[in-house]
Amino acid sequence: MGSQTAFPLQITTTGDLKALCQVLWSWELCDSCLDATPKASPRRGVAPCHCPWRQRAERLEPFFDFYRKTTRPYVPDFFGEHDQAIRSHQDLRDIIKSIKQNGAEHSQERCMREYFSLRAQGKESFVPGSDQARAFELAVRIMTMTSLSCDNSQEGFPAEATWDVEDKQAEAPQTWQEVDTLSGAMNKLFISRIHPSLQSSDSQSSIIRRNLTVVNLKRIAALRIEGTDNLQRHLRLDTTAGVVQIFHHTNFLKEHLLATKHEPNLPPIPRLLALETLCTLQLLFPSESSSQALLRNLVSKQGFDPDCLRFGTSPFELGGEKEWAMRFPIWGTRLMHLYDEIENPKPRGRIEVWLERKSKSRHIMMATMVGVLTAVLLGLFGLCLSIFQTWIAWQQWKDGSNR
Ligand SMILES: [Zn+2]
Repeated sequence: MGSQTAFPLQITTTGDLKALCQVLWSWELCDSCLDATPKASPRRGVAPCHCPWRQRAERLEPFFDFYRKTTRPYVPDFFGEHDQAIRSHQDLRDIIKSIKQNGAEHSQERCMREYFSLRAQGKESFVPGSDQARAFELAVRIMTMTSLSCDNSQEGFPAEATWDVEDKQAEAPQTWQEVDTLSGAMNKLFISRIHPSLQSSDSQSSIIRRNLTVVNLKRIAALRIEGTDNLQRHLRLDTTAGVVQIFHHTNFLKEHLLATKHEPNLPPIPRLLALETLCTLQLLFPSESSSQALLRNLVSKQGFDPDCLRFGTSPFELGGEKEWAMRFPIWGTRLMHLYDEIENPKPRGRIEVWLERKSKSRHIMMATMVGVLTAVLLGLFGLCLSIFQTWIAWQQWKDGSNR
């Protein structure tokens, strides 16, 4: 019988976060940094080192918050005879490590089978399939900040569904299929499809790029901006609610770009996806003051990653990558949906909706009828008044003649 814990991931220690960075981005840490002392207080007499933990851990706080929030509620599926798929943060890190090592070449089914059989080390251990799938889902959520389902009992949705014109299926769970590698699943989720209007060969593209800003989305299209920690929902427009979602964990993407600079094909996030996402934020929040003021407001009031305010991607790029990313092969379709909202803004304010309804032709007819009716009523009122005046005058004349 395996170890039993109701909430194995309830508490995340600083040591867990350090080890997480080591697993996710191959951070190398010195003995002083690996020490359990909190990150803010280096030990006395020890010269400050140049480890990434000392340099960049503070900036990763929004991602650490996401990690805590995502892992805390995990509860194993079964108690009793069965083993738990995740018994500690260490187990979760081991799963992440094995997916990183094998996710580019091995299928999901093989990754899962190999990890759990290796862990059992020949001893008798049984982890239920559904719990295995949930453990892998959690690992993939942390690694990619998407929500890919690993449950093979569910029917997988075609990846194209996310790119439906109305984006109706975006809420549907996307699946890392049993036969796919993780890299394959990510490529299916984020399809490359060049949008002609955003290319430099199109005469309108510079105007589109200049006007496609969050300031215009707010002022002209009257859309609300919401942050998301799910990369799949980046730039998703909910026309009914008038909301556009923006993935704001730029530091997470930058760490991934730094970590894969020497091995560009390392899973799980394609470099182009990470860089292009950063480029969409540069496009939507250009360096002029009103855009930056709006972004500062989103950071302070809506908890956007403060790293969004750091402009520039050159330290994270490899040669030629930026040019390709700026063609927006992945996010182009959603960007153009947003531009349509600026070009043809739908009425969203109460008065605007009311005015729009009133401006339709049948309402113009109704307004004319109301006008005519008012004129008739006023005429009748005038007639009554003159009759009354005549009656008073007649009474006065009668009284005068009776005296
Ligand atoms: Zn160090």
